[in-house]
Amino acid sequence: MIVHLDKLHHYPQNFSFDMPAEECCLPADVGVLTSAIHLDARMRRLYDEITVEGRMSAQLEMPCSRCLKLHEECLDETFELTYFPRPVEEDFVDELELDESELTVSYYDGETLELHEIVREQLFLSLPAKPLCKEDCAGLCPSCGQDFNEGTCDCPKVEGDPRFAVLKQLLTQKTVEK
Ligand SMILES: [Zn+2]
Ligand SMILES: [Zn+2]
Repeated sequence: MIVHLDKLHHYPQNFSFDMPAEECCLPADVGVLTSAIHLDARMRRLYDEITVEGRMSAQLEMPCSRCLKLHEECLDETFELTYFPRPVEEDFVDELELDESELTVSYYDGETLELHEIVREQLFLSLPAKPLCKEDCAGLCPSCGQDFNEGTCDCPKVEGDPRFAVLKQLLTQKTVEK
């Protein structure tokens, strides 16, 4: 959805749309969207400054970071963005020095703003870094892959970080090979 900035006013205008999942191009190993992404946005313009207050919601299936099981994640994020016209090159350095801490400031080119870009960006920002199927997911056995949420296995119990267990196993194998 393209917003023509010359049609915006100093008072807020509401925009609402659904972006089809396939238009988001979410990499399949990250997750699979099970619904369209919904955006509600209030936009206003004061001279060259465009403010976007938005709320984005989406449902997707993601693999659990401990047991790899696919599970549903519901995203519901609010955000606020400020846009200025992209500065011409000689002004750019000054602008950077002034606004180094202002992470929510972006620039627009020409007289339009593409809402799809905003939705895509906000979706990626709101994805959980370590999705979990449940808060206390017990994970998988590092040796045989048994899902500890479903039962136990006969592998020797590993204490501590499972990554070290894999390393230890590799070192033991090396010693046997010698
Ligand atoms: Zn899990
Ligand atoms: Zn096991």
